[in-house]
Amino acid sequence: MNLKKILLVLLSGGILMTTACSSSDSSSVKDGTVSEAETTTTTTAPVSSEPEKTATTSFAFTEPELREPSEYGKVIAITFDDGPNTSTTMQVLDLLEEYGARASFFLIGNNITEPTHEVMRRMVTLGCEINSHSLTHSYMNVMSAEEITAEMDATAKLIKDVIGIEPKFFRPPYIAVNPKMYETIDIPFINGYGCNDWDSKVTTEERVEKVLSQAKDGAIILLHDSQGNTQTVEALKEIIPALQKDGYELVTLTELFHAKGVDPSLAEYTIFSFAEQTERW
Ligand SMILES: [Zn+2]
Repeated sequence: MNLKKILLVLLSGGILMTTACSSSDSSSVKDGTVSEAETTTTTTAPVSSEPEKTATTSFAFTEPELREPSEYGKVIAITFDDGPNTSTTMQVLDLLEEYGARASFFLIGNNITEPTHEVMRRMVTLGCEINSHSLTHSYMNVMSAEEITAEMDATAKLIKDVIGIEPKFFRPPYIAVNPKMYETIDIPFINGYGCNDWDSKVTTEERVEKVLSQAKDGAIILLHDSQGNTQTVEALKEIIPALQKDGYELVTLTELFHAKGVDPSLAEYTIFSFAEQTERW
């Protein structure tokens, strides 16, 4: 079944309801399993005093197939921090869809709420990747090992409950790291080339210029889809087509490392800004 297929049922009362049923448990989905996308949303009935029930959602997706490394040309991984939300994140996804580009989203666990589940499902349906940016977006370099583990485990569970798989990469809040974090967290750390786009004083044009000036084969670009970050949305309207015109394929982090023949899980004390980075932190 097409991943995007949604059965729309127009009820006689004029209520548009999105429905799909599945008894499958998303937690049983393994990487690469071919299965159906299932979407269930609650219906807002015009006259109902009943409290809205939490939708029981089962969603599974097929991860994008990886080609042979030799079949990739120039690749860049655009990444976004601090989502998800239902406004700016959706505008970013609109652009990725329009240009046939994929990206990786580093989510803050505490931003994962019922309204953003649909946003997350759209991410993976478009071939994007969902990763971890911690639960509370705190400085983790002052935490105990137990606190670090709690941040990581809670976020991984929140993500898995929605899309069926756990995050593969971690971006430390504020890029603040220490040896304890490297020893406690077992997924690769990702940095990237940024343009301080969390600062509203950085104009759209400055963002475009900075990102394009740092573009190179294998690079990771660090942007933010925080709510209201419209300058980055505007910048993307220039960045994405400019990179594609330059011959870059915009890929996920998994694809980026695969295309470069790098296994990031083998790296120790490393926070990657490009796939073939060998310098340690
Ligand atoms: Zn952040």
